[in-house]
Amino acid sequence: MEFGQLKVLVVEDRDFQRDMALRLLGELGVPMPSACGSGREALDRLAAGPAPDLVIAALELGDGDGAELVRQIADRDLARAVILTSDLEPAPLGPIELHARQRGLQLLGQLEKPLSRDRLLSLLRRYRSEPPASSAAGVPGLDEIGQALTNRSFSLAFQPVVDLVSGRLTGAEVLVRWQRDPGAALLLPDQIIPGLERQGRISELSRWMLEQTAEQWTAWQAQGLSLDLSINISMRDLQSIATADAYDDAVRARGADPRRLVLELTEGDVEPASPALDVLVRLRQKGFGLAVDDYGTGLSSLEQFVALPFTELKIDRGFVANCDRDARRRGVVESALALSRKLELRSVAEGVQTREEWNVLRDAGCAHAQGWLIAKAMPAGEFVAWAAAYRPQPG
Ligand code: C2E
Ligand code: CA
Ligand code: CA
Repeated sequence: MEFGQLKVLVVEDRDFQRDMALRLLGELGVPMPSACGSGREALDRLAAGPAPDLVIAALELGDGDGAELVRQIADRDLARAVILTSDLEPAPLGPIELHARQRGLQLLGQLEKPLSRDRLLSLLRRYRSEPPASSAAGVPGLDEIGQALTNRSFSLAFQPVVDLVSGRLTGAEVLVRWQRDPGAALLLPDQIIPGLERQGRISELSRWMLEQTAEQWTAWQAQGLSLDLSINISMRDLQSIATADAYDDAVRARGADPRRLVLELTEGDVEPASPALDVLVRLRQKGFGLAVDDYGTGLSSLEQFVALPFTELKIDRGFVANCDRDARRRGVVESALALSRKLELRSVAEGVQTREEWNVLRDAGCAHAQGWLIAKAMPAGEFVAWAAAYRPQPG
């Protein structure tokens, strides 16, 4: 049976809703789902083990909220996947979603109560269709991930960034990939980054990505392909003031120009009073661009940005997706763009998948976009071929 192996825990404080969830799961072939009536009880049960595959938790719980429960599950690796249920229409989850993603917890989606059998089925199938991460044998272990970094086995993928008005190619975001087995699919960052974070080796990855990106920038520049390249770094990379000089040296030694490189930091990471802010200022003085990544998912305020030397704001794809149809998402997009205008930041929308989204973004004054509508991330060779064949379509 399709879900014959799936171990599910339902967390719901209302008897009626809980019984309904258990009944639907039973009908869909999930064997003996278990249930808890509070977040507290769920945490105790999860901590005692064994870990279920999936937790279906109410976002509003009598003794706290489902968001905090998800955070705990993500931090302590208490389950592989979560579905949230809510009395309200599903809304962007922002910080919880980002947190889950960063920790490698699959957030399969949200369900409005009362639960619909079909929607529940489609979210359960999402779990099943996840890449190998869900089969224990396919998951790379910490040792193997660390070894891959030591052996420089990772590779770079480049996702085009274009101008939303002219359609012109202006740059690319560089994303890490791992060809773990020849012939098999590339592994994505969510199977690499959390493992390196856990081993305290994320800064080593950042440094390597920076070096590789600088080399590629210089090679492309020589071929007449002049691009702004962005890499993802972590606030943890910026703990020492020496980092700014080290980054600058590494880039210049490879013939690249820091002014054409952008360092992306996630919004949630940036704490107003940390020593890393000095490093940010230093990097900016060296010419590096600095982007606020995943904008909209953190809790920062406008004042916080005013004091920081950012040059770019990237709107999270959770708000870009369906922004043409969902007024709430469009609201977030518009306020992000208002902020970027006020602070004179370059604006980039992530995850643009349809022409309709493109149009809304352009009309709202967004300057740049990346997303599958334009192209997915590609290895360098493929990127060059793509760029040569690319014909800008003015929006
Ligand atoms: P991010 O910085 O938000 O990067 C954008 C992610 O969205 C990429 O996923 C990209 O492939 C995906 N994406 C772009 N356009 C679309 C679209 O139209 N639809 C959909 N569904 N997805 C789209 P990817 O490569 O899996 O990266 C995930 C995250 O991993 C990145 O999110 C970034 O936070 C992190 N990451 C990637 N490379 C590195 C790295 O070298 N170092 C660090 N520290 N983090 C990295
Ligand atoms: Ca990014
Ligand atoms: Ca993002």
